[in-house]
Amino acid sequence: MEPRYTHDCDACRFVGQYASVERDYDVWFCPETGLPGGSIIMRRSSRPDDYLSADTSLIRGSGSVLAQGLKLAVSKGMVAAVAKAAPVPDFALMPNGRIWTR
Ligand SMILES: [Zn+2]
Repeated sequence: MEPRYTHDCDACRFVGQYASVERDYDVWFCPETGLPGGSIIMRRSSRPDDYLSADTSLIRGSGSVLAQGLKLAVSKGMVAAVAKAAPVPDFALMPNGRIWTR
């Protein structure tokens, strides 16, 4: 299976394609961006900024498009299970001094 869209990161590994009701996505796994465990990128076109992405350790549940992309990457053995199991804190102090809560 080949990517449909141009993707500009040499570190990314192509996972596959995911079709939601509305959109078709190219799914990429990037081991070199974001938190340890890498990130999932869901590209919607070849336009450089036309993608969704999130750190694998921050993706929760199965309802979002990014969760479906992560599921695909895990099923292909591309994302370590340990990344999936990384805990997400209930709150954190952000660089701007505000408190982040989930
Ligand atoms: Zn990348």
